[in-house]
Amino acid sequence: MKINSAEFVISNQEVKKCPTNKLPEYAFIGRSNVGKSSLINMLTDRKNLAKTSGRPGKTQLINHFIINKNWYLVDLPGYGYARVSKSSKAKFQKFITNYFEKRQQLVSAFVLVDVRHDPQPIDTEFMEYLGENGIPFGIIFTKADKLKPNALERNVENYKNALLEGIWEEVPPYFVTSASNKTGRDELLAYIDGINQT
Ligand code: GDP
Repeated sequence: MKINSAEFVISNQEVKKCPTNKLPEYAFIGRSNVGKSSLINMLTDRKNLAKTSGRPGKTQLINHFIINKNWYLVDLPGYGYARVSKSSKAKFQKFITNYFEKRQQLVSAFVLVDVRHDPQPIDTEFMEYLGENGIPFGIIFTKADKLKPNALERNVENYKNALLEGIWEEVPPYFVTSASNKTGRDELLAYIDGINQT
């Protein structure tokens, strides 16, 4: 898929204030600092579409971007940020779960995980939450350039095995990416394009 246009539409915390037309949308979520903003900028070929921030967890908003005027890319807040107070954490979780459970236009979520790390409960539990609610998702491994090919392959295999040892009967669609050298960009955009065409 060629990106012809990528524009910010709206940020908010309420599903009912999200765009009301029926365009398909794809939501990106992961731990703070996982490389979500960098990935979104890499995918859309825009330097600052998503704000890479030095203060992870600061912006807790559902951010809609419209791509090629025919699908939405949704940038969700990073989770698991320790410095968020308990009350704002509860609020955060509520509006995120509201989004996932109510947003009918959502075609797929993408859960981002740093490929350098072993599976973290916060991520695998979130995937389980999506599974339990029947929300399709893919996994995006980020920062692939930080590992040598052997280690990269080993970590991806470990992650897949951990999922199969958990509740999953099959591994969800997954993508190995790097915002630094654009690894995985074509595959991920082709995947989204493929769904949009059906
Ligand atoms: P976010 O909090 O998930 O939006 O993460 P950011 O996109 O702000 O990235 C967090 C940090 O990881 C920044 O210092 C980025 O430069 C770095 N980073 C993100 N993606 C990559 C990548 O693919 N490769 C490398 N080497 N660094 C990355």
